[in-house]
Amino acid sequence: MSTETQNIIIQKIAKSKISEVDFSNLAFGSVFTDHMYVCDFKDGEWQTPTIKPYGPISIDPSAKVFHYGQAVFEGMKAYKAEDDSIWMFRPEENQKRINFSANRLQMPSFPKEMFFDGLETLLKLDRDWIQKGEGNSMYIRPFVIATESGVSASPSKEYKFMFILSPAQSYFKGGGSDVKVLFADKYSRSANGGVGAAKAAGNYAGQFYPTHLAQEQGYQQVVWTDANTHEFLEEAGVMNVFFRVGDTLLTAPTSDRILDGITRKSIIQVAQDMGISVEVRNVRVSEIVDAAKNGTLLEMFGAGTAAVINPIAGFGCKGEDYTLPKLENSYAMLLRKRITDIQTNKAEDKHGWRY
Ligand code: PMP
Repeated sequence: MSTETQNIIIQKIAKSKISEVDFSNLAFGSVFTDHMYVCDFKDGEWQTPTIKPYGPISIDPSAKVFHYGQAVFEGMKAYKAEDDSIWMFRPEENQKRINFSANRLQMPSFPKEMFFDGLETLLKLDRDWIQKGEGNSMYIRPFVIATESGVSASPSKEYKFMFILSPAQSYFKGGGSDVKVLFADKYSRSANGGVGAAKAAGNYAGQFYPTHLAQEQGYQQVVWTDANTHEFLEEAGVMNVFFRVGDTLLTAPTSDRILDGITRKSIIQVAQDMGISVEVRNVRVSEIVDAAKNGTLLEMFGAGTAAVINPIAGFGCKGEDYTLPKLENSYAMLLRKRITDIQTNKAEDKHGWRY
């Protein structure tokens, strides 16, 4: 069946797949809902979008995305509150950021009205897939790929913008974490003037090999340092990083090497609201190692949409391992609770972040 709303052609699935899904046992990003949103860019403009049953798409093998990596994406979430209302968290930030990323890769912006019209229509159509309850959410993956055929190394004239949706559960069942990270001292994620601040697909591909080497040594993730000196801590693979030294939270400033994380800036604000002192400044590897040695490094955690806050249990640096203390009332847990309560409509939203 095909219907047309004002601006979107909608082809509904004949029979929902939802009954085949075990919502209590979801591996992150592996199950997708019944429908997806597709909008093509051709002849210099975005065409009428379609929402259709989720499934493979057909692209010419010479399409630029396959050869030159012209691809950007976002990661965001929707939550269902106890009264069945559906909420997103600061989605305008993701909408702005995907255009920032696209423009950095010489790709066209996607209009704000089309972004929200498409996303809301898709979420409403697949709303039964958004589960209520602690830790449950709908992970939303917007992305743009270069689809023009031809292997000349130049920007594509044709693109596909898509939304796909994947139901997600909490990263943590308990609340603790055994994540150990390695501070990078050889490889780099990004450079001055590069694409580190964009959510460009290739940024992630470039991390897989050094992260694999770290995993062979028993670390789950790498914390990247500045490419010039490896003396300053920047961010992890898919998360910004915070350090608690004494009662102060430290995190690196954003730059053209670091993704301007939405969770990061929300944590800075919420921490300040709670009276926690936060310093946004360059963080030296040596000061964190010293703090670990003298016992003032109390916490480290990653911050990102997927896990909200991911506590880090220890780190490796230049051949030495450091273990962090286990705290009862950690900042990580306090901040995670406050942010997830705002996200799921359980706490006052004084900054107007819920959508
Ligand atoms: N850094 C990188 C490299 C990321 O991929 C992500 C995930 N988007 C983050 C930080 C965290 O950003 P956000 O809080 O907006 O999800």
